[in-house]
Amino acid sequence: MITETIIHSCHGCQSMNIRRNGWDHRGKKPRQKYHCLDCNTYGTLNPDGHYDEATKERALAIYQERASIRGTARVMGVHRNTICRWIKKKQTRFPN
Ligand SMILES: [Zn+2]
Repeated sequence: MITETIIHSCHGCQSMNIRRNGWDHRGKKPRQKYHCLDCNTYGTLNPDGHYDEATKERALAIYQERASIRGTARVMGVHRNTICRWIKKKQTRFPN
């Protein structure tokens, strides 16, 4: 039998003085939430990984080749609203 012990700390202040505080039910499986008693923040242990930069760049490259947003979403397996958000973030605006 292999037993692993994982010691978590607050993501903000690295304090060990954290308490369990319910579950985050977004995503495939629930994840433990915590409350830091030192800096009074709330967070999630082992949060879901966000999309990496390579996925983001590839989706934007496909979109640049004039594929539709829905087509890009189907190819990349990313929700179309996520791609819209990336595109909006990438757009540069003219200075006022
Ligand atoms: Zn903290």
